[in-house]
Amino acid sequence: MSHSDQRVIEQLQQLVATPSVSSTDPRWDQGNRAVVDLLAAWLVDLGFAVEIQPVSADGAKANLIATRGSGPGGLVLAGHTDTVPFDEGRWRSDPLCLTERDQRLYGLGSTDMKGFFPLALAAASTFTGTDLQQPLILLATADEESSMNGARQLVAAARPRARAAIIGEPTSLQPVRMHKGIMMESVRVTGRAGHSSNPALGNSALDGMHAVMSELLAFRLELAQRYGSAFFTVPTPTLNLGCIHGGDSPNRICSQVELHFDLRMTPDGDNASVRAEIQARLQAVAGDRGLAIELRPLVEDVSPFEETADCELVRLAERLTGHSAGAVAFATEAPFLKQLGMDTVILGPGSIDRAHQPDEYLELEQIRPCIRLLEQCIRHYCL
Ligand SMILES: [Zn+2]
Repeated sequence: MSHSDQRVIEQLQQLVATPSVSSTDPRWDQGNRAVVDLLAAWLVDLGFAVEIQPVSADGAKANLIATRGSGPGGLVLAGHTDTVPFDEGRWRSDPLCLTERDQRLYGLGSTDMKGFFPLALAAASTFTGTDLQQPLILLATADEESSMNGARQLVAAARPRARAAIIGEPTSLQPVRMHKGIMMESVRVTGRAGHSSNPALGNSALDGMHAVMSELLAFRLELAQRYGSAFFTVPTPTLNLGCIHGGDSPNRICSQVELHFDLRMTPDGDNASVRAEIQARLQAVAGDRGLAIELRPLVEDVSPFEETADCELVRLAERLTGHSAGAVAFATEAPFLKQLGMDTVILGPGSIDRAHQPDEYLELEQIRPCIRLLEQCIRHYCL
């Protein structure tokens, strides 16, 4: 094992040992600041200027923007520093202790996606002492796994800026230029309670919800026809009726019922116009039945993402990897970086099939090819 491989493993050990779970469940939610501080110290040693951008009011959650060189072009190597919660009892080894076995590095976040950072640092260190013509920016974000508030903060601050961005999420080193969006919405139907023996005494919210669900399922079929995309394994937008709560008694007219659903749009459509269409359809049901129907987001949505097939970065990534750029089923921070004006692809080591589950690992054999690939990208955009 070379000196640089050892350095990569040592750094990943420290990153994995520094817990940074983010979760919408407050019992799990932690800050990522200690991970950001580790990365910042290593990047300062490599000659980067580091800026820590608070994401939470107390600074326990933060983004790191580390820059070497300047100019209007350049390259961002981006990743998130948080992990999902974990079920320690189902791991064969301590999830926070990086463990090497069978040519693999096991640990929480080893592939999704703390493992990307030591590789990006190794690629950056190749150019220590070389004058960069355009900036190389290492970007490390907070809360990708929960709210995407780190990425939202970047958009609000209009930073960073560069020609191109590579997000090192696990894609087995194959470029990805598309994913679906995510919306999670609530529909609340409010009617009027009354004795069940006489329907005229009330206005059933459950009857109204039946009409709402029929409307949503009809809309789902239309979405599939209008926004199908053969690039995806599931080649249509999906709309899942996830849970429903309402009513209290068989002999009472139900006055309120609430449904939660998620909707994952393909890049051919956009969240805002789909939401407006759903809203119009639900208001028609409300008007017909004299009910109040409220549609509201449960969480802030993530847009679908598509980078154009013929952009410089996609072409470069395809040429360097020998794979044509594809689509994935999971959402990333890519739509936010694209919104900042950067050509964006998702391309990183490890497999998404290993992420978010016990015994997550990164294959050792991904390390050198990934470093080499990132070096070539840095050479293209920064030299
Ligand atoms: Zn991830």
